[in-house]
Amino acid sequence: MTAPTPLIAGNWKMNGLAASLAEARAIAEGVGDGPARVALCPPAILIHRMTEVVAGSKVLVGGQDAHSEDSGAFTGDTSAEMLADAGAKLVILGHSERREGYRETDGLVARKVRAALRAGLEPIVCVGETLVQRKAGDALAVVTGQVRGSLPAELAGRDFSVAYEPVWAIGTGLTPTTAEIEEVHRAIRATLVETFGAPARRVPILYGGSVKPGNAAEILHADEVGGALVGGASLKAADFLGIVRAL
Ligand code: PGA
Repeated sequence: MTAPTPLIAGNWKMNGLAASLAEARAIAEGVGDGPARVALCPPAILIHRMTEVVAGSKVLVGGQDAHSEDSGAFTGDTSAEMLADAGAKLVILGHSERREGYRETDGLVARKVRAALRAGLEPIVCVGETLVQRKAGDALAVVTGQVRGSLPAELAGRDFSVAYEPVWAIGTGLTPTTAEIEEVHRAIRATLVETFGAPARRVPILYGGSVKPGNAAEILHADEVGGALVGGASLKAADFLGIVRAL
């Protein structure tokens, strides 16, 4: 069974205006032809223009969230099909900022994953424990529970990735030790294989949370780490390219 193809994805969160597309252009021009797949997930309103800016490069464009329904009376929301129509190929789902800020449950995330698959988008499904949960010794139980609850059976045979993002490491400059990352990633792999069988060995398991050019090489070469989901350091081309090149 071949190893997963690594994925380095940038999550711009609610950052970026039209002028920021210059950074996306610089990333597209500098990304080269390394072993990783590379994606940028800007705010939905920039997706269409970003796909034009990165056209001809290996950079893929993704969304940061999608509604669980295909269309309807959901003021202010964006469907997976709309993201795909604008040029997105992937979508981040279940980010902890959505789970916490919008009370997204595992069940809702699983419905969003199904909606993404219906639209032909490749989901990046986020999981991760809080500091309180880690200190209580519950990290593995929390994360594997989220994997079981957020990944619907429809993912069998489809392209997707899981991003392990400890909530306490996001935007804080703190990261788990390499041994802690490996422990969680191995547990996620075991859960994936238990759920989807041997083909799940090819699912990339990304690490996210304060990945920077300076720590990327160690993290990306850890056992069962198949890429990174990068927040703050994806906003500047020099930082993001530093991470891509660390692989
Ligand atoms: P960070 O965010 O890299 O800024 O810590 C990661 C994320 O939330 O995906």
